[in-house]
Amino acid sequence: MPEITVADSDSDSGSEVRTGGCLCGKVRFTVTGPVDDPHICACTHCSTRSGAPFQWWVGFPMDGLKWTGTDPNWFDNHPGKTARGFCGTCGSHLAARDHGNDMAIGILATALDHHTTDPALAPTNLNRLAEAAPWLTATGCPGSAAASTADPSQ
Ligand SMILES: [Zn+2]
Ligand SMILES: [Zn+2]
Repeated sequence: MPEITVADSDSDSGSEVRTGGCLCGKVRFTVTGPVDDPHICACTHCSTRSGAPFQWWVGFPMDGLKWTGTDPNWFDNHPGKTARGFCGTCGSHLAARDHGNDMAIGILATALDHHTTDPALAPTNLNRLAEAAPWLTATGCPGSAAASTADPSQ
């Protein structure tokens, strides 16, 4: 497979290459292939580990992932089931994988170099927003109107 740099948007989504890494730069990676299910998640694991009200996830084919530089550290957040990858030096959150699933890798969109300008990463699904801090759904978060009408306890 030819090494293609993504630059802007050459529209062959199957062979797009994206680069990313952690804040200190020790962990770097490339992911190749189409974006799957870009979403945010406000579950307890996402918010407690990140120190933020939610995390922004994007799926990629596992066989398109290459760690360059230092490998991430992994924390089993659901022992035996799922693990979260992070930089052992700066602590940046980078990835999630299911043990036994070698088909897909979850990448935190914020770890991708061009996440602010890549339209393919825009979340299309708001996962477990009901678990988020209540002010989040009241302050213009994407989908906040739908979230507040969907939750009868609000
Ligand atoms: Zn780092
Ligand atoms: Zn989550």
